[in-house]
Amino acid sequence: MHEVSLAGGILKLVEDCALREGFARVTSLRLEAGQLAGVEPRALRFALEALAPGTCLEGARIEIDEPAGAAWCLRCSVVVAIAQRGNACPHCGGYQLQATGGTELRVVEMLVEDD
Ligand SMILES: [Zn+2]
Repeated sequence: MHEVSLAGGILKLVEDCALREGFARVTSLRLEAGQLAGVEPRALRFALEALAPGTCLEGARIEIDEPAGAAWCLRCSVVVAIAQRGNACPHCGGYQLQATGGTELRVVEMLVEDD
């Protein structure tokens, strides 16, 4: 399950930030896991919650947004909505699609607290 290593990466990012900015804990963490990012949000949340105890993420509220996938269709020359990678263009049925949106996993917002 690669969500575990992704969660580890997010935790490291948050802890580095805590060191740099000197906050004690995170009360709320908002992430964005695009529909084309290849991330299962439920698994990611589970992995983060499993890693959190004893870290600055302990007790943090975790929100995961799931921006819709979008892709540029080379045949239609328009941006179309797709639910997952490998889907066909809803207009022409073609597969010459280039993902343009919903491809990222990133931290959007973090609310923090000092001691
Ligand atoms: Zn098309």
